[in-house]
Amino acid sequence: MAYQTVSPTTGEEIARYSTHDADEIDERLNWAMEAFKDHRDRTYNARAERLETVADLLEKRAREYGELMTREMGKPIDQAVSEAEKCAWVCRYYAQHAESFLADEPEETPAKRSFVAYEPLGPIFAVMPWNFPFWQAFRCAAPALMAGNVVLLKHASNVQGCADAMEDLFKEAGFENHEFQVVRPARKHVSDIIQDRRVRGSALTGSVAAGSAIGREAGDAIKPSVLELGGSDPFIVLDDADLDRAVDIGVTARMQNNGQSCIAAKRFILHSSIAKEFTRRFISAVEDLKVGDPMDDMTDIGPMAREDLRDTVHDQVERAIRDGAVAEAGGHSVDRDGFFYKPTVLTEVERGTVAFDEEIFGPVASLIVAEDAREAVDLANDTRFGLGASIFTEDREKGERLARRVEAGCVFVNEMVKSDPRLPFGGVKDSGYGRELSRHGIREFVNAKTIWVE
Ligand code: NAP
Repeated sequence: MAYQTVSPTTGEEIARYSTHDADEIDERLNWAMEAFKDHRDRTYNARAERLETVADLLEKRAREYGELMTREMGKPIDQAVSEAEKCAWVCRYYAQHAESFLADEPEETPAKRSFVAYEPLGPIFAVMPWNFPFWQAFRCAAPALMAGNVVLLKHASNVQGCADAMEDLFKEAGFENHEFQVVRPARKHVSDIIQDRRVRGSALTGSVAAGSAIGREAGDAIKPSVLELGGSDPFIVLDDADLDRAVDIGVTARMQNNGQSCIAAKRFILHSSIAKEFTRRFISAVEDLKVGDPMDDMTDIGPMAREDLRDTVHDQVERAIRDGAVAEAGGHSVDRDGFFYKPTVLTEVERGTVAFDEEIFGPVASLIVAEDAREAVDLANDTRFGLGASIFTEDREKGERLARRVEAGCVFVNEMVKSDPRLPFGGVKDSGYGRELSRHGIREFVNAKTIWVE
């Protein structure tokens, strides 16, 4: 099967890419090993200099890279440009902090000297999704390269132009020896790569099904893995919340990236005393969103990334309605070329139904009513997922107290869930394991080596 990119705005094919056969994969793994031998001996300064150049180029070409993302997966252009800029941020962050994060750590023991040294592992296989086609890859690559590892990227089939652009960018910035390279295996070869003795770890961002497959292979090969998987983040609005702010942020938290974000607010859990008012304002704000050409700066919502993804979302909406939910807005495709889906609000969503239990990866909000804060947290935790959560309340102490009781990798009080290079990112339960970003992320693929000198 060839990798193929298709414009989600028109449905027309953009390009086809041939898969790498077993020999081509072998060649790339050899290149990765060769690259690692040199790169591991580079000083932090030498690595950082190159990564700062990557950041300079990302900033200079943010519009160009943004247009590429929008063309291939349909996110609104302003969000795509911001994504390229955010990638520059994560590069600079690790360029500036990696050395201190991985500095030797002396320990007092009976030895003359004993300490922990953090050393790179080798080639890391990164399997990445299309929804943030630059960010997901950079979030993995920037710390890996600063730690002295090298990266083989298997990107989602529908964003191969982005994959190639990133490979060229790293090369141009001075990572000239395949320190970051793209590999296009057929599905059957993915496990061979994970099992290959030259590969020392795997990172996957994607669905739970892909996470299970990659995690199983990595476990079988006794190699570390980081899995960043799906979510069904709760967005709790309590009776004392600032409703203007909660509605404003709630719409963005659900609808940004055309509703295709792992950390999107997916289940809105509303205190019964504000539920009616929140729902009224939320529906009105969703209906005001401008759906259209994602290349247009005025567009809020573009198409979904692929036709099958839109069909899956519509099937979920139909099943949710059969389960008793009411589509107060949207609930259908948009009548035009491309893979557009009307922003949708489902009310009267109950536990144990599709709109509560499944991750809906598109512009669809599920609204749920809770009697009080205790029930809200109980509903928030009643899911297989545990990625992020938001709580809106004017009582910040209560917000913090409740935040500790939510089963998730991160909880934001009076703010939407977002990733920030300075803070760890990742999930619990079926949302995965391991962390990316911050000092925690860079320590996922290193050998914490004990050195004892007598
Ligand atoms: P996906 O279908 O799992 O694809 C992700 C990547 O995994 C792609 O490169 C895909 O390749 C590959 N893949 C899929 N199944 C595989 C398998 N069985 N073995 C090996 N590789 C496999 O996910 P998606 O639809 O692109 O992305 C949406 C999902 O990702 C959502 O659940 C979302 O919540 C999650 N996500 C999580 C995070 C996070 O940070 N936690 C961030 C973004 C997205 P092909 O494209 O070639 O199929």
